[in-house]
Amino acid sequence: MDPKVKKFMEAVIAKNQGEVEFHQAVQEVVETLIPFLDEHPKYKDAKILERIVEPERVIMFRVPWLNDKGDIEINKGFRIEMNSAIGPYKGGLRFHPTVNLGVLKFLAFEQVFKNSLTTLPMGGGKGGSDFDPKGKSDNEVMRFCQSFMTELQRHIGPDTDVPAGDIGVGGREIGFMFGQYKRLRNEFTGVLTGKGLEWGGSLIRPEATGYGCVYFAEEMLKTINETFKGKIVAVSGSGNVAQYAVQKVNDLGGKCVTLSDSEGYIYDANGITPEKLAYVMELKNIKRGRIKEYADKYGCEFVGNGARPWVVKCHVALPCATQNEVNGEEAKILVKNGCICVSEGANMPSTPDAIEVYINNKILYGPGKAANAGGVATSGLEMSQNSLRLSWTREEVDERLHNIMINIHKTCVKYGKEGSFVNYVKGANIGGFVKVAEAMMAQGLV
Ligand code: NDP
Repeated sequence: MDPKVKKFMEAVIAKNQGEVEFHQAVQEVVETLIPFLDEHPKYKDAKILERIVEPERVIMFRVPWLNDKGDIEINKGFRIEMNSAIGPYKGGLRFHPTVNLGVLKFLAFEQVFKNSLTTLPMGGGKGGSDFDPKGKSDNEVMRFCQSFMTELQRHIGPDTDVPAGDIGVGGREIGFMFGQYKRLRNEFTGVLTGKGLEWGGSLIRPEATGYGCVYFAEEMLKTINETFKGKIVAVSGSGNVAQYAVQKVNDLGGKCVTLSDSEGYIYDANGITPEKLAYVMELKNIKRGRIKEYADKYGCEFVGNGARPWVVKCHVALPCATQNEVNGEEAKILVKNGCICVSEGANMPSTPDAIEVYINNKILYGPGKAANAGGVATSGLEMSQNSLRLSWTREEVDERLHNIMINIHKTCVKYGKEGSFVNYVKGANIGGFVKVAEAMMAQGLV
């Protein structure tokens, strides 16, 4: 490891002990930023890097609620307000039993760079709870969301901090939290994004992260004169991001052959057609079932025990489930099997070893903070529509999203070009950093 990176990371680890995902996210950024800072000493003199890894504010709270049996349950609630140099804090809420401070700090840190890349005026934040919505009734989820928002409401607002969804937080949860915010504050305002269409939501917001991830992959493929037409695509996850990634790949003439959840993956060599995708949406969003049921219905293979789909032969891989879901060995298998492009719908799904394999083999690799920025970008568009008290059409929002993804790709190429190869990790990190750093310098030591 570069001695400067090592020294910086030792300090970060000492100050943030046990937060392994946060260390991983910081190291990936620092490795690409330190050479850039050597060429731009003004950022070093202002200690921007030391400041940017320290959250502006961390809020942690108790979330007590009653389950359907009338028993008391206690969860942890968090909101990390990471950086507000270029706009109000913005980033999703995750409800999942693996949520802890380190996971949310990694997500909030990545969010700062991602939001900057969108070119919209949004700072970075993230929050959530170790609450697990799986297996809970709608009433239990509602009581939890109301208790969570009863505390969170005093820290957020349309010009302060605007949360959205993430793992375990979809339209249902956003609805319950919005209702409670409105009741407590007596104001109807764009304090959350991912809202329903009837009450301030934006068309294309549910589709945005998955579509954006595929638009980004499409731009990467163009650089080698390739398209999605006829490509075999492996997708992980089966939630919001995965579903709409499959839909867009279908639109562009590719064939998705896998989907997964925490129990395992399905392999459908015939492709997940629009009709089968409609079944997945019903299964996951309404019945809240398991992906194995797809294999039972369509007679294809299901590989259980938490297996991941990266052993399947594909041209393009779209990890859309969770962090660290592709390791170095799996990355080697992908490359060996002819995978030419990895575009991350999830946040930090590839381990550092996996990233090294992609870069060493010079395949097209779009890191999450660039490739999945379409979700937050469209949240930004929802905020704009709320402020204007207007709703744009589906076509209008989709066109804006598409252009934002094209522009993020351009920024990555601008800062990441290494001869004929584009290092998108470097491009995204430097491209996201510059705007935030300039704003921090202009605003003094705050
Ligand atoms: P959902 O909750 O809708 O779906 C998550 C999917 O990932 C489910 O299939 C889930 O399976 C699977 N999953 C979650 N945790 C694990 C795990 N530990 N191991 C294996 N599988 C897991 O979430 P989203 O689709 O919204 O989010 C997916 C990813 O995309 C996350 O990394 C998120 O941060 C990222 N992202 C989401 C955005 C959005 O707009 N929603 C925006 C940008 C990034 P199971 O049901 O079994 O848990």
